[in-house]
Amino acid sequence: MRLKLAYFYPTRMNLYGDQGNIQILFLRCRWRGIDLSVTEFEIGDQINLTEYDLAFLGGGQDREQSQIGRDLLRTKAAELRSAVNDGLVMLAVCGGFQLLGEYYQPVEGQTLEGISIFDARTERGVGRAIGNILTHVGFLPGESQVLIGFENHSGRTYLGPGCRPLGKVLKGFGNNGEDRLEGARYRNCFGTYLHGPLLPKNPAFADYLIRLALERRYGKTELAPLDDLIETETRRRLIKRIKKSLLLKRRVG
Ligand code: GLN
Repeated sequence: MRLKLAYFYPTRMNLYGDQGNIQILFLRCRWRGIDLSVTEFEIGDQINLTEYDLAFLGGGQDREQSQIGRDLLRTKAAELRSAVNDGLVMLAVCGGFQLLGEYYQPVEGQTLEGISIFDARTERGVGRAIGNILTHVGFLPGESQVLIGFENHSGRTYLGPGCRPLGKVLKGFGNNGEDRLEGARYRNCFGTYLHGPLLPKNPAFADYLIRLALERRYGKTELAPLDDLIETETRRRLIKRIKKSLLLKRRVG
């Protein structure tokens, strides 16, 4: 079986090792005999996503966001919107997530218009939301429901009724630090503030995306299980450590 992934702006949008998300998708496909090919798209590139199964857009700083934001609107918005409406599996992290909403207000300078895949608006925040974050999602099995990540953003994102959150914040800031929601989901398009990178820390989420993409192209699919012993143990320790740091913070505060 074959899958195709469109990787947007790899040179500009790759904060905190976001590229690791692509590597983990590639490896978890290869370990199962699935051939995942990755095509990179940069500023100015026209896109035709009819043959694509997956897409990824990482996080970035305000300067990079304003550069790619203009290009997204000009050369990629219409095709991306129609592909997502057709079921394309897409993951966007932090700065990328913000630009899939209606707008993003950077700390300084003009508001950036987004491509409105998500019914979401990102307002300018006071101070940055920085630290480890745990989010509970409702669609993964057992312990893997807890997504582990790292967030660092100034924007505060508020969702409208046109999309669902990705999950509920257990520890950390999330979309805006007020409603305890994290990320967004519209059809098979996922936005999140979780860097880290996200998928190596949360392999069940990587498998979920791969399965959605396979099912869209080939119909009902069962993924062969992989030996995730090391990943599972690492996750157990990380979750414990992050919860403990929360307790300590509470005691000190
Ligand atoms: N520049 C954006 C913000 O600060 C996104 C940063 C990021 O992708 N980590 O909110």
